[in-house]
Amino acid sequence: MWIGLLLLSGLLLYLALRLRRRAARNQRMSGLPEGKLVYADTGRWSAVAKPYFSERYRLTGKPDYLVDTDDGLVPVEVKRSAAPPGGRAYDSHVMQLAAYCLLIEEVDGETPPHGFIRYADATVQIDWTDDLRDLLLDTLEEMRDDLGRRDVARSHDDPARCAACGVRHGCGREAL
Ligand code: SF4
Repeated sequence: MWIGLLLLSGLLLYLALRLRRRAARNQRMSGLPEGKLVYADTGRWSAVAKPYFSERYRLTGKPDYLVDTDDGLVPVEVKRSAAPPGGRAYDSHVMQLAAYCLLIEEVDGETPPHGFIRYADATVQIDWTDDLRDLLLDTLEEMRDDLGRRDVARSHDDPARCAACGVRHGCGREAL
């Protein structure tokens, strides 16, 4: 299981870096939905026993909970940190939730209406839209393109990030 979680961690790091690069390039937000603050204590919350896996998307991951709602299965990701200001979610967390929505859609054959990111002080609802799916699929495709390249530019100048990086030993470039 730890291999799957490691793969997902790598994907999330990659997604966060790609989104940051794209946002900087376009000087605008990356098209992610902002989400909205909700109360999400009702419904049946079930812990997820094992990771989802999609051969088609070569993607694996496990949300913390699934909620069985009248509108369908809803993934929930729990974070210990506080929500960012403004009642929205961090971009990398939105993409993580989007990956879970895609996996549920693929494996369970049900399209989630949305997902929840539950921060220490707030719960943010992220709608699973066609735009968010397109953004996730584009990012996955870019990731695979980059995997085949010998030289991919570092997208940041943050030594702390390199110091905490889980793939530092395999990084092809000099870490900061
Ligand atoms: S060590 Fe630094 S540059 Fe290399 S992959 Fe990790 S964060 Fe990126």
